[in-house]
Amino acid sequence: MPDIIQLLPDHVANQIAAGEVVQRPASVVKELLENAIDAGATEVTLVLKDAGKTLVQVIDNGIGMSATDARLCFERHATSKIKSAEDLFNLHTKGFRGEALASIAAIAHVELKTKTDTAEMGVKIAIEGSEVTSQEMVVIPKGTTISVKNLFYNIPARRNFLKSNPVETRHIIDEFHRVALAHPQVGFEMIHNGSNVFSLPGTKLRQRIVNIFGSKTNEKLVPVAEETDIVKVNGFVLKPEFARKSRGEQFFFVNDRFIKSPYLHHAVASAFEGLIKTENHPGYFLYLEVDPHAIDINIHPTKTEIKFEDEHAIYAMLRSTIKHSLGQFSIAPVLDFNRDAGFDTPYEYSKKSPKVPTIEVDKNFNPFQKEPKQGNISFPFKREKSPAWESLYVGLEDEESSNDNSFSLENIEMESEEVTGSLFEGQHQENGKVTFQIQNKYIVSSIKSGLIVIHQNLAHQRILYEELLKNITLHQAVSQQLLFPISFQFSKSKVAMLQSLKEQLEDTGFVFSEIKEELVEISGVPSGVLESSVEEILQQLIADIETEVPEAGYSQNDLMAKSLAKSMAIKTGVSLSMEAQEHIIHQLFACKEPSVSPNNRPVFVTMGINDFDKKFM
Ligand code: ADP
Ligand code: MG
Repeated sequence: MPDIIQLLPDHVANQIAAGEVVQRPASVVKELLENAIDAGATEVTLVLKDAGKTLVQVIDNGIGMSATDARLCFERHATSKIKSAEDLFNLHTKGFRGEALASIAAIAHVELKTKTDTAEMGVKIAIEGSEVTSQEMVVIPKGTTISVKNLFYNIPARRNFLKSNPVETRHIIDEFHRVALAHPQVGFEMIHNGSNVFSLPGTKLRQRIVNIFGSKTNEKLVPVAEETDIVKVNGFVLKPEFARKSRGEQFFFVNDRFIKSPYLHHAVASAFEGLIKTENHPGYFLYLEVDPHAIDINIHPTKTEIKFEDEHAIYAMLRSTIKHSLGQFSIAPVLDFNRDAGFDTPYEYSKKSPKVPTIEVDKNFNPFQKEPKQGNISFPFKREKSPAWESLYVGLEDEESSNDNSFSLENIEMESEEVTGSLFEGQHQENGKVTFQIQNKYIVSSIKSGLIVIHQNLAHQRILYEELLKNITLHQAVSQQLLFPISFQFSKSKVAMLQSLKEQLEDTGFVFSEIKEELVEISGVPSGVLESSVEEILQQLIADIETEVPEAGYSQNDLMAKSLAKSMAIKTGVSLSMEAQEHIIHQLFACKEPSVSPNNRPVFVTMGINDFDKKFM
């Protein structure tokens, strides 16, 4: 057999390696911003076009590079930051692998302009697919400007994998925040498609957080500070009442590097235990300083994961420090070791006013009354066909519901129509009840063929989803005017996102009286929405849009209807009056697709008499 192994040409090796370092425009942003920081810049500007797909440019006033270094920096493993393997355990820079620029140059059109303090003139180099295409002298101030154009131009498959511009922008903003939060003393600016998105002057940490996340943030912050032999902790946690369902502001920095650590997150979360609802997430900006010898950052190409020598000790210390901080700011309840926690009001109920228990008596109950005939009974499960908007539901084809699915509505209808034309046994059964709830979660009703069990939350989601989608497409929402407008503070980027969704949101019934900077004022809400839940609904919507998966082919309207339906729907655990239960059943079966929730979960199950019979054999 002939020899078949060959060495890959450099540009191919670089392209392959690029896959590890550069997943999306945000990865380029991260690498370039970190290089600027490593170069000692005090002012850094990020310029973007089309969510970085067309251009990512970083301008810094750092130390710059000599003409030779400017060429060399694009070589693989070319770095000024370490010299030997030992240095890996004494890192004071963000970079050290010497592969970011080589990787980026393999998959984009790159232009580098740089000048050191002492050089008379700067140098400008253009690179395409790892090949230097031009080099010339230029007159520029000290510092470096790197422009990365047409990312993945030579790997169409990777380019096609990029998500929509709002999603890619979101990723970039995340990276930008991480670097900006790690280096509050450095000034940062971000310009996207010509407009200024962030302008952050160099300042102290607290002010930097406020500049990024909005002026309202200031009063939410609780300082955290502690120092032991192995670790120094600094920063802030958000007061427990600002914990949100959507994962919000959660930042760990170790030696000024943003890192992800589920383990340390757990330490923080456990310090908040009992102070926030289990489904909510605490917010934090925590800065750990450890001896560089005691960590290993070299375990992941993007350098966001790190190994600590003394993980358990750091966990324990973090947890107790945060508990202490929360306690000091008299946020945690005073500890009383003799108290029996069993007597505590569960958090969910602590804010509710007590309800007077009621006894339900059926005044019409008459034990001697015979069962009425079934002929004149209404037909609550009949589906209202409204052809005007039916065709608007793209992708909700009828084929699906006519599949052989034992839970499908068709089966139920057929069975019942055959006999009496009604699914229900009758509305005036002996006990006067048609429906009842179990565990405040399921609505149970008897149907002609047996029993139907409906998931109240999923059913209501389906109802709201179809209604919202209809309203958005037909622009016919019913809005409930608020007596006094309510206003919210959101971060600039969230306000920008709401601004871009304004029209569709208004079609669902929201009325915005003002949207600007960090302020959103609302004077009307969709009918049925409580004023108190508006903020949560909007937060959730933003979170859902941010994590959108456009490949799945869902439109923004669809996504929005899903998100709103989910936040607005009657929750599990809510007790429903009989009328409310019936109303849900009626509305559900007026839906086009009653058997599945917007996220494709079954909404109800049925059990036929046969199924029961089998159980008694
Ligand atoms: P690393 O950051 O891991 O060293 P990079 O590929 O990101 O690898 O950069 C290679 C080298 O190029 C760096 O070590 C540094 O010497 C130089 N360099 C990159 N960006 C800049 C910049 N903005 N200013 C000055 N030097 C830079
Ligand atoms: Mg680097």
